[in-house]
Amino acid sequence: MTLIDGKKISELIKKEIAAEVLKIVASGKRAPHLAAVLVGHDGGSETYVAAKVKACELVGFESTLIRFEENVSENELLQCIDQLNHDAAIDGFIVQLPLPKHISEEKVIESIDPKKDVDGFHPVNVGRVVAGMPAFVSATPFGIMELLRRYKIETSGKNCVVIGRSNIVGRPMSILLSQKGVDCTVTLCHSKTKNLKEVCMQADIIVAALGLPEFLTADMVKEGAVVIDVGTTRVPSDQTKSGFKLKGDVKFDEVAPKCSYITPVPGGVGPMTIASLLYNTLLSNEHKIYP
Ligand code: NAP
Repeated sequence: MTLIDGKKISELIKKEIAAEVLKIVASGKRAPHLAAVLVGHDGGSETYVAAKVKACELVGFESTLIRFEENVSENELLQCIDQLNHDAAIDGFIVQLPLPKHISEEKVIESIDPKKDVDGFHPVNVGRVVAGMPAFVSATPFGIMELLRRYKIETSGKNCVVIGRSNIVGRPMSILLSQKGVDCTVTLCHSKTKNLKEVCMQADIIVAALGLPEFLTADMVKEGAVVIDVGTTRVPSDQTKSGFKLKGDVKFDEVAPKCSYITPVPGGVGPMTIASLLYNTLLSNEHKIYP
């Protein structure tokens, strides 16, 4: 069994990005600039945004953090997005999800200029991914594809089961895996899927993205399968300072011995998501997606 080290690969990608930033700045152009919009004080969101800002510093990007209180109006938030859309000094920005209930996430995502949508959530970018056109690809699925590529994991003709059909992980993942050149035969599963265990037993590659800790057990995985664990649920823990720890969707201890490759949680998919976001911002700065 090979442990897929997302932390190591993400460090490597960040080094590659940092080298590219040095070249950009040496050529007299400005460094890539990522902005993040954070609404409220949700612990998870605070942690993710702080990690994104820190990662920007590490690779030599400019970063801007815009904070709003929980009670910000939808209009105020949309105005901020409009300003960011028109700010020529910003290459890309993200609005950290989830948003408070009185704000429509759909409206917010649709108001982001697709050319600055480095999270890849805008329907234009999603549509371009489906059509096989250049696009900002949703960071988590993008990161997973990069892990498969860098570990030289064979995908062509493989049966792949994706568990979870969210717009930001499961569904784009299923599309990327079925693209020409990747060539998996993909089954996309969700809460209404019948006989999930039997479906999973047919899989050469399983991507678990449902948000239910330790859902995928050894009896659902065939010998030699590749297992990618996207789940990151915070569960209470008295062993950590923060009082919680992250749990994946895979019962790692019993599944890992059956796998050819598996990602751990933490240190698997999570760090790749941030690296992919930085990469998308670099692509935006260099006008590589929308020339
Ligand atoms: P989500 O929007 O809540 O979607 C969950 C999906 O799982 C839904 O499609 C749901 O089906 C399906 N599901 C729920 N229970 C199921 C069951 N018993 N059997 C089969 N399918 C089931 O979640 P998400 O945003 O995609 O996130 C999934 C997990 O990934 C979460 O733990 C999240 O924290 C994590 N995540 C991690 C990263 C990272 O960087 N590592 C990034 C994003 C998300 P229905 O559609 O039928 O309801």
